[in-house]
Amino acid sequence: MSVQEAVFVKIKAELDQANVVLVAVSKTKPNEDILALYQLGQRAFGENYVQELVDKQMVLPKDIQWHFIGHLQSNKVKYIASFVQLIHGVDSLKLLTEINKQAQKAGRVIACLLQIHISTEETKFGMNKKELEDALNASVHLPFISIKGLMGMASFSNDLDQVRNEFKILHHHFQNMQDQFVTPFTILSMGMSGDYQMAIEEGSTMVRIGSLLFGTRNYQIL
Ligand SMILES: *Cc1c(COP(=O)(O)O)cnc(C)c1O
Repeated sequence: MSVQEAVFVKIKAELDQANVVLVAVSKTKPNEDILALYQLGQRAFGENYVQELVDKQMVLPKDIQWHFIGHLQSNKVKYIASFVQLIHGVDSLKLLTEINKQAQKAGRVIACLLQIHISTEETKFGMNKKELEDALNASVHLPFISIKGLMGMASFSNDLDQVRNEFKILHHHFQNMQDQFVTPFTILSMGMSGDYQMAIEEGSTMVRIGSLLFGTRNYQIL
């Protein structure tokens, strides 16, 4: 079994101490690996691909809280709307509007995080400051979504000062948003296997950790 159970116990204790929520990122990993952490009490799991998430949700325990952390296409929202716990990477008003529509159909309110572009890499998704404000203003008229906070991904870089700076920028947006809007924003999703400790130092409230818990991923099996 590739699950690092001792590592899980250690990281979980560290995060509990800091009051930070752990999302165990299980993309590309088999159900038995998810169940191994489930048995240790983990309930929040993160997935990037809609089809994989739907397949896993169907057969795994119903009290698992599924977080969608990948890039979500508007035309796929309908497949996860009935059960998803939190959608992390909402990066356009178009997507937000579609989530609202599918949430209404499913008879529920879906919690979302807006993704902010903090990395220097152009390939990473996310909103700029103006798009963020437009989305927040528009969300007032979307009763079936609830924006809980922000999500961001730092650059894949060995330059730790740069990564820290990106986390600082994201945290700054988060605080601005808390000051400007009446809805309570409580979630700042930042930090992965390689940088979660730094993210917590910079104010993260939720980390998304995959390879540290499940071992490295092999994308060829997809
Ligand atoms: C895959 C992924 C993670 C987990 O990455 P690790 O480096 O394996 O911890 C976190 N967040 C997002 C958005 C991801 O796509």
